[in-house]
Amino acid sequence: MKPTVLAKEIKLDKIQEAVRACIQCGTCTASCPNAFAMDYTPRRMWRMVLTGEIEDLFSTKTFALCSACYYCTLRCPRGLPLTDAIYALKQIAVAQKADVYRSGTLFYEKFMDSVRRYGRVREMEFMAYYFAALKNPLIPLQFTPLGIKLMRKRKVHIQLPSVRAARLEAMFKKAEELEER
Ligand code: SF4
Ligand code: SF4
Repeated sequence: MKPTVLAKEIKLDKIQEAVRACIQCGTCTASCPNAFAMDYTPRRMWRMVLTGEIEDLFSTKTFALCSACYYCTLRCPRGLPLTDAIYALKQIAVAQKADVYRSGTLFYEKFMDSVRRYGRVREMEFMAYYFAALKNPLIPLQFTPLGIKLMRKRKVHIQLPSVRAARLEAMFKKAEELEER
């Protein structure tokens, strides 16, 4: 597995505390509808968390593939807050800008930039910024047929960038302040 590049030191202590009582029974793996697509099973991932295998943990896409269905949380015999712990792992991965999650992180970043600017997503502009950030001209080419199909069906429209004031800026700034506390 390609080692991931981590921007800064990672502290897993809160997540480790949350799953400390794991008995490695595998019920989470057996319950997870997405386990078939994961490179490591949820049970193995919790083991990595507990043993602090940070490089491997943030090189896997296991927690990124979680769709927050809460089955594992409901069925864990130790009653562990597994889905919340996965949210915490995702937040760390985004903050670290780990390369294995780069495209997903950029997608959400550009999506939220659009919401921040307009109060809603402007699809064409958002995708243009996203593709530009990926710096790989082959990726937009792959999506061109889909884009044309959506435009024909009037599901997306050509939009020029707007200089309209960012109306939600104050709200986003306040949320950032609260998160930093
Ligand atoms: S179901 Fe709970 S106790 Fe069992 S392996 Fe998963 S996290 Fe651990
Ligand atoms: S919450 Fe995530 S990890 Fe848990 S069972 Fe659902 S998809 Fe799998």
